[in-house]
Amino acid sequence: MSDYTINTKCVQAGYTPGNGEPRQIPIIQSTTFKYATSEDMGKLFDLEAEGYFYTRLQNPTNDYVAAKICALEGGSAAMLTSSGQAANFFALFNICECGSHIVASSSIYGGTFNLISVTMAKMGVTVTFVDPDCSEEELNAAFKENTRAVFGETIANPALTVLDIEKFAKAAHAHGVPLIVDNTFPTPVNCRPIEWGADIVTHSTTKYMDGHGAAVGGAIIDSGNFDWMAHAEKFPGLCTPDDSYHGIVYAEKFGQAGAFITKCTSQLMRDFGCIQSPQHAFILNLGLESLHVRMPRHCENGLAVAEFLQAQPEVVAVNYPHLPGNKFYDTAMKYMPNGGCGVISFELKGGRAAAEAFMKALKLAAIETHVADARTCCLNPATSTHRQMTEEQLNAAGIPAGMVRLSCGLEDKLDLIADLKQALEAVRA
Ligand SMILES: *Cc1c(COP(=O)(O)O)cnc(C)c1O
Repeated sequence: MSDYTINTKCVQAGYTPGNGEPRQIPIIQSTTFKYATSEDMGKLFDLEAEGYFYTRLQNPTNDYVAAKICALEGGSAAMLTSSGQAANFFALFNICECGSHIVASSSIYGGTFNLISVTMAKMGVTVTFVDPDCSEEELNAAFKENTRAVFGETIANPALTVLDIEKFAKAAHAHGVPLIVDNTFPTPVNCRPIEWGADIVTHSTTKYMDGHGAAVGGAIIDSGNFDWMAHAEKFPGLCTPDDSYHGIVYAEKFGQAGAFITKCTSQLMRDFGCIQSPQHAFILNLGLESLHVRMPRHCENGLAVAEFLQAQPEVVAVNYPHLPGNKFYDTAMKYMPNGGCGVISFELKGGRAAAEAFMKALKLAAIETHVADARTCCLNPATSTHRQMTEEQLNAAGIPAGMVRLSCGLEDKLDLIADLKQALEAVRA
């Protein structure tokens, strides 16, 4: 499969049925798995043999789909989680513990911002946020003796800033820690962060990968490129014996290619149980089979709509990285020459009231907290997710009251533009 292009991998990677076996991946709807002897079972519990014993840790359906996502990102090992939140928590907590420090881009998904700055803080993990556009000096100055990971999003949700992956990877590696990149918005069809130096990639598969607004899920992919043993003093969880598995040293027993995901499955999945259901994994795979066909259309619609909006007198500003003139245009074209995603944000003159009237007048675009699925949807942060903020607080956060986030779906771009046009006319009236 590794010789094929990403288009073919979207359709066929991860699962190769044998003679007479199901063509579509089977949903293994079973919590448990049968063994003939206790010795056989014991080998699994000692991580001496590979196999399934309980779906809280691993399930074959999930592993077929994880293997596909692993192939798409060019990783060495991968796993599915119950949500994108679980994926980012596991990816960080697999190498951080009480007393650790994270360097993270300040421009990240609100849920991840809360996870790191509030919930992980309660576990004793601290964070320094940096502007994704900061200089190398500012970035290097954020590191501490106890820094264990660097985190950012390829295209941030909802700020739509673009991460300079090479800059962040260089700084992470200079300090002996891995770079974790959340690649949810571009998907591996448009960007493969591992090729630019990222060590671990995460996804909210809830977004474009599923692509139909049908199943919440997440994924973690390890590049296999980070040399844990070369920095053994920083990563005792991977480089010293695990008492809960008879003293196994993950980085020795499973090597650079397998240590991270094996530890994440056998410790974090065992103890937290944030597994994706096999039914959801099956639905996710249906989405993946057409990801390479859908992403170009999302991008085509996104750019056409951004260009249209930019020319409208009611629109103060349009934020879309692939729109010429955008602050992140050059970075976007470097990492994503074929397009990024279909999500746009723009500010309407007239603030909250104008945004509300505009969105009420839209016929195709529904008001939702979701993004990145087949149906176009929109949201005004000032009256929904950021409702409790005052006008001044909204401006300080870079989310003016008249800002609308629009996720362009797979409809015809002419219909989308016509819908926006009639809604703008309604605001004008
Ligand atoms: C939605 C999202 C998440 C969280 O994913 P869930 O599947 O909703 O838990 C994380 N990162 C990014 C970039 C997202 O867009």
